[in-house]
Amino acid sequence: MTGGATTARDDRSLTATFARLIAATGPLSIAHFMAESNARYYDSRDPLGLTGDFITAPEVSQMFGELIGLWLTDIWTRAGAPYPVHYVELGPGRGTLARDALRVMRRQGMAPAVHFVEGSTALRAIQREHHPDANWHDDLSTLPADAPLLIVANEFLDALPVHQLVKTAAGWRERLVGMHEGRLAPVVGARPMDAAVAMGGTVSAALAALIADAPDGAILESSPASAAAVRAVAERLAAQGGAALFIDYGHTAPRLGSTLQAVRAHRKVDAFAMPGEADLTAHVDFAAMAETAEAGGARWMGTAEQGPWLHALGIGARAQALARSAPAQVATLNAALDRLTGESQMGALFKVMGLANPGWPAGAGFPR
Ligand code: SAH
Repeated sequence: MTGGATTARDDRSLTATFARLIAATGPLSIAHFMAESNARYYDSRDPLGLTGDFITAPEVSQMFGELIGLWLTDIWTRAGAPYPVHYVELGPGRGTLARDALRVMRRQGMAPAVHFVEGSTALRAIQREHHPDANWHDDLSTLPADAPLLIVANEFLDALPVHQLVKTAAGWRERLVGMHEGRLAPVVGARPMDAAVAMGGTVSAALAALIADAPDGAILESSPASAAAVRAVAERLAAQGGAALFIDYGHTAPRLGSTLQAVRAHRKVDAFAMPGEADLTAHVDFAAMAETAEAGGARWMGTAEQGPWLHALGIGARAQALARSAPAQVATLNAALDRLTGESQMGALFKVMGLANPGWPAGAGFPR
């Protein structure tokens, strides 16, 4: 990795833009900082793969997308094989998951129309190479309203902005981004936020208990943007039929603490040091997402750990079948299997949340 923090002196950098904005109007919300940083980051590059900044499950192995394709085909078939039907992916990256999933779906005789919700110009161009017939959307509002939707979002919610509140001796305040010794740094806002925190605590008893016992310095993170996306999906499923899978790293019980992190060239870096040049993510609060989905009218099937979920879908048998047809690949396949399902790898930290129209059948690998 070359170069350290971008400085306020390079006036084309996002750091300089933020510095000017902060000088003019005061500190920014973490959410504003994260949204602008990621918009710049994703728009200009393909961040995925060994030569990029990070690797995702579909880039590890074709087995991931294939099993998702099988899951979608299975639930659609048991729902009576309604036609037409739309395959929708939120943040499809290089289009790899869609390629593997759609190959399986087409082999089973399905022919869904393909819709991608994608903000990045660079990634849209790569997606178009593999999916020339896809339809692109800036957000969920323009997705078709005429038929059931089969929706997949892998590592999409973690890229959406979070807000943070911090407990101080004087009560809860917003955690903001300001300037400290010429660099962007977290600062504590002046405005009391206790009323907003109290409202959050009314949503769930578990969160209320955490808030009541929070020591000074505790951070309460939330993602209204993620909630809005999940709510929109849930309302579409309720109105049009269909099912959705949200796969991401995160937690299934409410908790305190900042999970904001920046990754560049496969290494964690200071989240405030190089906005627009590193991938900013936060853990997904799956407890909040499940509540939001149900409030939007969807059936929440459960939130499973990725490892057990992939095993329930038969990833072991799929790996063996691939190994039989390509014996030279056995070591690579076993490594991929371990990466996707191993407890110390992606198997436990990553979760799979299943949603469906209340009238649709249960989804494979979920309790309901
Ligand atoms: N799902 C892919 C890529 C994950 S990276 C994979 O698993 O490999 C996050 C993806 O979400 C990228 O495609 C990025 O461009 C997209 N994205 C991030 N924020 C977005 C936003 N606000 N609107 C639309 N797409 C967004």
